[in-house]
Amino acid sequence: MSENDSTVIEPSITFADLPLSEAVLKAVQDVGYETPSPIQAQSIPKILDGRDLLGLAQTGTGKTAAFALPLLSKIDLKQRSPQVLVLTPTRELAIQVAEAFQRYARHMPGFHVLPVYGGTDMRGQLRSLQRGAHVIVGTPGRVMDHLRRDSLKLNGLKAVVLDEADEMLRMGFVDDIEWIMDQTPEERQVALFSATMPRQIRKIADTHLKNPATVEIKAKTATVATTTQKVCMVSGFNKLDALTRILEVETFDAMIIFVRTKTATVELAEKLEARGFAASALNGDMSQALREKVVDRLKKGSLDILIATDVAARGLDVERMSHVVNYDIPYDTEAYVHRIGRTGRAGRTGIAILFATHRERRMLRSIEQATRQRIETMTLPSMRDVRDMRIKAFKEDVLKSLDMGEQLDTFREVVKELATENDLNIEDLTAALCFLAQKDRPFPDGKEPERPQRERRERTERERSSERGGERRERSGERGGERPRRDRREDNEGKVRYRVNVGREQGISPGDLVGAIANESKISGRDIGHIRLFDNCSSIYLPEGVDTSTLDNLKGVKVRNKSLELQVWIDDGREPADTRNSRDSRPRRPRREGEGAGAPHRNEGDRGGERRQRRPRKEPQT
Ligand code: AMP
Repeated sequence: MSENDSTVIEPSITFADLPLSEAVLKAVQDVGYETPSPIQAQSIPKILDGRDLLGLAQTGTGKTAAFALPLLSKIDLKQRSPQVLVLTPTRELAIQVAEAFQRYARHMPGFHVLPVYGGTDMRGQLRSLQRGAHVIVGTPGRVMDHLRRDSLKLNGLKAVVLDEADEMLRMGFVDDIEWIMDQTPEERQVALFSATMPRQIRKIADTHLKNPATVEIKAKTATVATTTQKVCMVSGFNKLDALTRILEVETFDAMIIFVRTKTATVELAEKLEARGFAASALNGDMSQALREKVVDRLKKGSLDILIATDVAARGLDVERMSHVVNYDIPYDTEAYVHRIGRTGRAGRTGIAILFATHRERRMLRSIEQATRQRIETMTLPSMRDVRDMRIKAFKEDVLKSLDMGEQLDTFREVVKELATENDLNIEDLTAALCFLAQKDRPFPDGKEPERPQRERRERTERERSSERGGERRERSGERGGERPRRDRREDNEGKVRYRVNVGREQGISPGDLVGAIANESKISGRDIGHIRLFDNCSSIYLPEGVDTSTLDNLKGVKVRNKSLELQVWIDDGREPADTRNSRDSRPRRPRREGEGAGAPHRNEGDRGGERRQRRPRKEPQT
């Protein structure tokens, strides 16, 4: 069935080999993708060629970029009526896809993507549609609604994408899809992506796709007998916290942690360093010499944790690699098999831990099939486990120090003096000394922090049901549905919410934003609505109807040396990270160089023994 069913695990092509537009290539570089994923390597040339496409691919394979990158390369920015329509089964996916388009179009000034989905107020969407958008991403019910009202016109449409077609079928959208497809111009390109190919989807493909190219990522089976596989479900959980707990509790020799982008290798290495673990990035941006040096340190045992991309870790053969952590799920089962093959070398056994979210469970099943092994679910270590482990390690260190012989003599003297001079008993004295020794790494009390984990999970559930509920209500003509949280302040009436790329971390205040916008545009400070600061971005309400050239101009305006990158707020009912967790918008002291995540690797050259490396020197923020 597949026209090109080579299982390209190591695609020889790079993004630069693909005839994508310059703006799109630049954005791909910005987001740090190293090479096209197999589905991208196969789909992008075909979509660029104008072929209809049938893609057998699921979430996690990089399918969004597989259609977004070539379609964006063909967008005519001057034409403001919709050129691309993407249909998705859920609101959540519509938002994700819209965000992906926005990300890949960051060097396309004036580009607009609009997500339209059920369960939200129609008026805002109508206004946005009137303003015009190059790409519409929507759920079938709401798209139909707009087509019936004539608020969405498809006469300039060049391409339609049916994303997760089998999910849309499962949710009862097949007739809607048929109806929508009938409203599209005859000469449009169609790409249909589906994880499976049930009869009804095949029928849609036969009816609406013309001589499609088929791309499929075939799963080869592989034996991974020497590796124990575990999965850690991290929906609604902070992956970094989960990883930190594993690093604290799991006994390992050397570990490789896989992430998807070059940027993520560096970011995660820095975050682990900030939490006291000695870790190093390994990515394709590093020179060959530097990469060799890092691998050498790993082999010799002066480094234990590597954070790598698939490309950088290709062929890596380190006997002492006892653990592989798939921090980001791989694109396909072959990449997975390749990754976990980094452990279990030279007859040793290895452990592979996979972080997966609820949405990625299909990939999880494929991996089980491909490796012909059941992947056991791993319970994340509790804070009690972390505490016990830390105390155990501390006791071991103390007992080891007793072997220091004469070197302890001076300390014995000091202890004796301290005890007699102050009339102290031995227990109090040693407790005080232990406190001093562990000041930077206290033992946690063993209680789980008040983490929003359960709440988040519940919220995700609520969102999921409201997505469906909203969609159902919409389809049956009812109004309402659970609305995503939004600021209902009166002064936001008649205003549109925008996102800007600066937040508390940059030390800005609302006044900075008002000043910058009022100075750089004709918008007066009085017309600017509510401002909310988050850690790394902020939201701001501006009057409706601000013209595109003003908005484009504001994108490049700098505050604290960072471009605002103004863009319409995509409301998914969730707010970005706000560690201060308050609506207080006082400015925060800007981070000084050398602080926090961006801090230089201060434990370079301070890499004592093996044990020392693995144990965080500071209290991890779990
Ligand atoms: P998708 O299968 O479209 O849901 O994509 C899954 C994830 O893979 C998203 O987080 C993308 O940002 C990421 N991704 C897509 N393409 C690439 C690539 N070529 N290299 C690295 N990450 C990618």
